[in-house]
Amino acid sequence: MNEYDSDKISDLMASISFKKTEEPYNADCVIFNTCNIREKAAEKVYSDIGKLKKNFKGRVKPLFILVGCVAQAEGKEIFERSDFVDLVIGPQSYHLLPTKVLDFLKRKEKTVSTEFDQIIKFDTLDNIKPSRTSKVSEFVTVQEGCDKFCSFCVVPYTRGPEFSRSVKSIIAEVKKLSENGVKEIVLLGQNVSAYNSSEEKLNYELTDLINLISEIESISRIRFMTSHPIDISQELIDCFKYQKKLMPFLHLPIQSGSNKILKLMNRKHTKEFYLELIEKIKQANSKIEFSSDFIVGYPGEDEKDFDDTIKVIDKVEFINSYSFIYSQRPGTPAANKNQQDLDVLKERLIILQKKLFEIQLKKNNQMIGQTTQVLIENETKKKGIYFGRNPYFQAVFIDQETKPGQVINTKILSCNTNNLFSFFNEKEKVLAS
Ligand code: SAH
Ligand code: SF4
Repeated sequence: MNEYDSDKISDLMASISFKKTEEPYNADCVIFNTCNIREKAAEKVYSDIGKLKKNFKGRVKPLFILVGCVAQAEGKEIFERSDFVDLVIGPQSYHLLPTKVLDFLKRKEKTVSTEFDQIIKFDTLDNIKPSRTSKVSEFVTVQEGCDKFCSFCVVPYTRGPEFSRSVKSIIAEVKKLSENGVKEIVLLGQNVSAYNSSEEKLNYELTDLINLISEIESISRIRFMTSHPIDISQELIDCFKYQKKLMPFLHLPIQSGSNKILKLMNRKHTKEFYLELIEKIKQANSKIEFSSDFIVGYPGEDEKDFDDTIKVIDKVEFINSYSFIYSQRPGTPAANKNQQDLDVLKERLIILQKKLFEIQLKKNNQMIGQTTQVLIENETKKKGIYFGRNPYFQAVFIDQETKPGQVINTKILSCNTNNLFSFFNEKEKVLAS
C-alpha cells in the first residue's frame, strides 16, 4: 500500500510543479514514506534521516517531509528527535501535501497533520493527474484501516478505523488504468475482504467489486490482498469458482498454528477454522494456491505452539509466505508482555523459513514440464529476457520474443526457490545469482 501511496504522493507533488529527480542530494524537497509495522522498519527511518542530513551537509537544506505510519505514530515528537524534519503527515492526510508544502514555503512553519480524513483524501486523489505511465499490473486501494485489533498490530492505530472507498471512485480509477494499457488490477486493503460500501441504497462487498471490474474487457486479471480469515464470505469463495478473471491465488495470513497463541493474539479464529476455510476454498477451485504470514515468538509461544505452526505449514503447503520475529509495538495491547529470548526466536525463524522455502521449491519443481500462462510485465535488464507472473503469482522469466501486456503460454524448464524459467542454461544461473 505504501507503494500505491508513494505514486499518489508523486502525482500530488507534480500538481504543484515538483518533478521527480534521480539525484536525491540535489533535491529541493525530500519525502520519506514510512512503515511502522515492525520496530526495524520504524527505526530505519531515523537512521535514514541521519544519513540524508549528513549528505546534505554544505548544500542547501531541502524541505524534508515525513509521511506514512511512522509520521502518524510519532507526531510532533519527531521534531525533538530530528531538527531536519519540516512537515509530518500521516497516511490518511497526505492529500494535504500541496497545501502544506506551499504554506511551508511561505511561512516556514513546521506542522503535523495526522487526521483520519479518508473521504476527502480519496476525493482529492480522484481529481489528480497521474504523473507517470501505467504498468501492466497496478495496485488500487479500495479499503483502508482495520477494526480487528490483533494484539500485536499497529495498523488500527496508524491507518485508523476500517474505511471502504466508494465503488464509483474505484471503477473510475480502474477504467482510467485500463485505458492506459493496464491488464491486471490488485485490489488493496489492510483488511480488503471486509470491503463494504453502501451507495444509492445498494450494498457492495468485495465480490461485487471483483464482478464489476471483470466487466471491463481489457482487464484480464484481478487479485486482492490482504484478507482476514473471518471476513472471507461464501460469495467470495464462490467467486473463485466462477469468476475466470479472479486469479486462483489467495494470500491468507494465519500468523500462528496454535489456538492458544491465536487467542492471545486476538485473531478471532482458530487453527481448525482456518484449515476448514482452506478446504472450502479448495472445493470451489481445486487449483487454488495459498500464501500466508507468520509471526514467530509472540509472548507465551512455547515449543509446542511453534510445532503446531509447523504442522499447519506441512498441511497447507503454502506456495509462498512471509515470516517475521514478533516485534513489540508501542501502544498495542501486547506491548507490555514479557519478551522471549531473541536467540531462541531467531532459531525458530530459521527452522520455519527452511520449511517454507522447502515447500516453495517443491511447488516450483512441480511446475517443471508444465505449461503456464504468463502475463508479461517487463523486459529485464538482460535483453531478450522478459519477466511476468503466472496465475499463482509465481515469478516467471521467459526468453522468447514478446512484449509487456501480452499473456503467453510458456513451458517451464527449470526453477529455483523464487523463480520459474522457460529455459535452462547459463542465463538462468545469471538471473538466479
Ligand atoms: N491485515 C493483515 C496483515 C497486515 S500487517 C492480516 O490480518 O493478517 C502485515 C503482516 O505484518 C502481518 O500479517 C503480520 O504477520 C506482520 N506483523 C504485524 N505486526 C507485527 C509485529 N508486531 N511483529 C511482527 N510481525 C508483525
Ligand atoms: Fe493488523 Fe491485520 Fe490484525 Fe488488522 S487484521 S489488526 S491489520 S494483523
